[in-house]
Amino acid sequence: MAPQTSFICVTCGTNTPADTEGHPPSCCIICDEPRQYVRNGGQEWTTLEEMRASGKYKNAFVPTEADPEHMISIVTKPTFAIGQRAILIKTQHGNVLWDCITYLDEETIEFVKSHGGLKAIIISHPHYYSSLKDWSEAFGGIPVYTHVNDKQWVQRSAGDNHIFWEGGALDLLDGEIKVLCPGGHFDGSALLLWNKNLLVADTMMVAASRKSVSFMYSFPNYWPLHPDAVKAIWRHVRPYEIDNLLGAWLEKEIKGNGRNIIYQSARTYTEYMGHDASKFYDDDAKELAFN
Ligand SMILES: [Zn+2]
Repeated sequence: MAPQTSFICVTCGTNTPADTEGHPPSCCIICDEPRQYVRNGGQEWTTLEEMRASGKYKNAFVPTEADPEHMISIVTKPTFAIGQRAILIKTQHGNVLWDCITYLDEETIEFVKSHGGLKAIIISHPHYYSSLKDWSEAFGGIPVYTHVNDKQWVQRSAGDNHIFWEGGALDLLDGEIKVLCPGGHFDGSALLLWNKNLLVADTMMVAASRKSVSFMYSFPNYWPLHPDAVKAIWRHVRPYEIDNLLGAWLEKEIKGNGRNIIYQSARTYTEYMGHDASKFYDDDAKELAFN
């Protein structure tokens, strides 16, 4: 048997290269830092081959509420690691995958191909790097975009097909898709804007009420994000028309009025944190005719 070249962290789902002897690395750098956690009982690893052979996992394909025809969630059942979804976006210029998941099998590849394949993968932040290299290769070595500010967290890149994009915004597919990097949760935390849908991942979290969003440095460990970072996120999305908001899990969607909801949420968050930001937000509200 060929030596194992990479291992998957069971807690975060990130694929990490094996050490020089084909053993799992000493730790998962994604989990071993304040935004994540090492599971109770210690670090555990698996492999994609092991997951497939177990027969335990399947990916489900679930039309989004926001646009069931053009945006389809791909999510692993039963839940694996963080449990996020990837979203297949069917644009006029071809398909892209927003964010990524660890599990990939023939059925998933066939499903995506039956919808026209994939032109690119764009990932919001390191917690969803998952099996990006395997996904890229499965669709012919398509480019994978992650922000250069988070380059240190890329454990197993897509090699020559890995694009570390720079700056605050990136246009893809003739400008039909815009990727934004307001930072916050990670320095390179990104958002994807397509057809007035803002795919927010963990850059902002769609709340359980589905009426607001919130912002965290660490979601599992409850570390809040500094209000200045929240203001920066608002100012970054302010220029755009935003209708629906889609988070990283199936039920995390808000239909309509997205930009106003981000505005109200950012303002409330800043005030709850004890920062007087009335002028900062009042000026914007006046200009945008928000109430
Ligand atoms: Zn991990």
